[in-house]
Amino acid sequence: MKKTRKTQKNQNKELALKAEKHMKQSKLAIIVSGVSVCILFVCMSIYMVKYSAAHEIEMFDNSYNSYAIRLSREYLRGTIYSGDGEVLAYSEGEEAASQHRVYPYGNMFAHAIGYSTHGRMGVESAANYYLLNYHSGLNNIAHATAESELVTADSVYTTLDTSLQQVAFDSLGVYKGAVIITEVETGRILAMVSKPDFDPNNIDTLWEEFMNDSASTNLLNRVTQGQYPPGSTFKIITTLEYLRENDHSYSGYHFNCGGSFTYDGDTIRCYHGTVHGSIDFATSFAKSCNSSFANMGVSFDRKSFQKTLDGLMFEEELPYDLPSAVSHTAVNEDTDTHNIMQASIGQGQDSISPLHMNMITCAIANKGVLMKPHLLDRVESESGSVVTTFKPEEAGRLMTEEESAQLTELMTEVVKRGTATRLQDDRYTAAGKTGSAEFSSTVKDDSHAWFTGFAPAEDPKIAVTIIIEGAGSGGEYAVPIAKRMFDQYFTVNPVTVDAEE
Ligand SMILES: [Zn+2]
Repeated sequence: MKKTRKTQKNQNKELALKAEKHMKQSKLAIIVSGVSVCILFVCMSIYMVKYSAAHEIEMFDNSYNSYAIRLSREYLRGTIYSGDGEVLAYSEGEEAASQHRVYPYGNMFAHAIGYSTHGRMGVESAANYYLLNYHSGLNNIAHATAESELVTADSVYTTLDTSLQQVAFDSLGVYKGAVIITEVETGRILAMVSKPDFDPNNIDTLWEEFMNDSASTNLLNRVTQGQYPPGSTFKIITTLEYLRENDHSYSGYHFNCGGSFTYDGDTIRCYHGTVHGSIDFATSFAKSCNSSFANMGVSFDRKSFQKTLDGLMFEEELPYDLPSAVSHTAVNEDTDTHNIMQASIGQGQDSISPLHMNMITCAIANKGVLMKPHLLDRVESESGSVVTTFKPEEAGRLMTEEESAQLTELMTEVVKRGTATRLQDDRYTAAGKTGSAEFSSTVKDDSHAWFTGFAPAEDPKIAVTIIIEGAGSGGEYAVPIAKRMFDQYFTVNPVTVDAEE
C-alpha cells in the first residue's frame, strides 16, 4: 500500500512535471505566435504606409478614387502657368461641381497642356494630383466660405516658355509635324508643338468628332508618340558605332562617292543622286552622304551595333512621365546586308519619336549625360507658397564625354559647310544634323524634313528637334524653322563671352 501510494505520488509528480512542461511549451508557443503576429502586423503596417506613400499619386489618379472626385466638387481645379508666368489653363464656374476649364492660348499649347475631361492628357494628366489638392490652410478656406467664394486648388508652374512655343507653333504653320525644345543641362522642356492640333476649349464637341473619324490624328502628340523613319539624323548613331569600332578615331576614313553604293546586289543612293566625290569622314557627315554611311554599315559588327542602339534606349520605354512611343530598330546580330545598309542611313524598318531624337541630342550637348525631360517646374498654393519643386534628374549616361565631343565637332561642321548652313549666325554657333526621311515606297521624292541640334556648340544651352511631314529636305524646310527657335532664344538670352577669353 505504502509502495503503491509512493508510486502514485511519483506518477502524480511526473504528471505535474509534464503538465508544467506542457504549460511552459504552450506559453512559449503563445508568446512566439503572439510576437510573430505583432511582427507581421508591424511589417504590414510599414508596408502599407510605404506603399501608400510611394503610390499616393497613382492611387489618387485612379479614376475610381472617390476622394479625388469629391475634391473636384469642392474646389476649382488649379491653374496651370507657363514658366514665364502666363496662365495656360484655369477653371471657372458658379459652383465647383459645374466648373469648366478655360485654355487662354487655345490650340497653341493643345498637346503640351492637354485636357482634363474625356480622360486626361499632357500637363493636365501629369499634374492632376496637384491640381486637385489644396495647401493654403484652414484660414483661407474659412475666409472663402465666409465670403461664399470658391476655393481654387494648388497651381502648377510648367517649364514651358510662351515666346518659344509661339515661334514653334507659328513656324510649323499648316504643316503636320512636331517641334520640341529642351534645356540640355536640366531636361526642362521649353516648347512642345504637335500638328494637326485641336482647341482644348472645345474638347467636348471635338471629342465626338475625333472619335467618329478614324483618320483623325489631331489628338496624337507627335512629339512623344509620333514614330518616324529617322532618315539621316540617324547618321549620328551610325557615327557613334563607327567611333566605337575604330578606336574612337575617324581621321583614317576615306570614301569615293559616285552617287550610289552597291553591295551584295543592294544599292543605296545619295539624296537626289548627288555625287559627293572623294570625301573624308567629316565631309561624309556634313554633306550627309548615304553611300558613305551604307559603306560603313556593312563593315559593322552587328552585335556591337545592337549594343549601341540598346544603350541609346531603342526598344525600351523612354525616361518620361507621360505616355511615349518605343523606338524600333531592325539591327540585331542576324541583320542581313540589305537591312544593315538601310539602317545605317536611317531608312528601312527603323523608327523614332521626336522626343527620343531630342533626348539623344541633349545627351550629346550635355557631355553624354541625359537629363530626364520634364514639363513640371513647381506647385504653389493659392497663397503663393511653394508646395513642391521638381528638380532636374539624371536619366543616365548615353555615351562618353569624348564621344559627345567628337559628335559635337562633326555636327558643328554640318552648320559650317554641310546641309545646315542656313543656321549660321553671328550671335551663336549651332551644331546639328539634318534628315530627309523617305516614307513612301511608291513616290520616291516624298520625304519628312528633320533637324536635330543644339547651340551654342561650345557651351550648349538648348536642343531643338523638328520634323515636318512630307515637306521635303531637312536642310531646306526644317533648318529655317530651327533658326527661328535659336534666334528667339538667343535674343532673349544673349550668349555672353567669358571676360577672360
Ligand atoms: Zn554620296
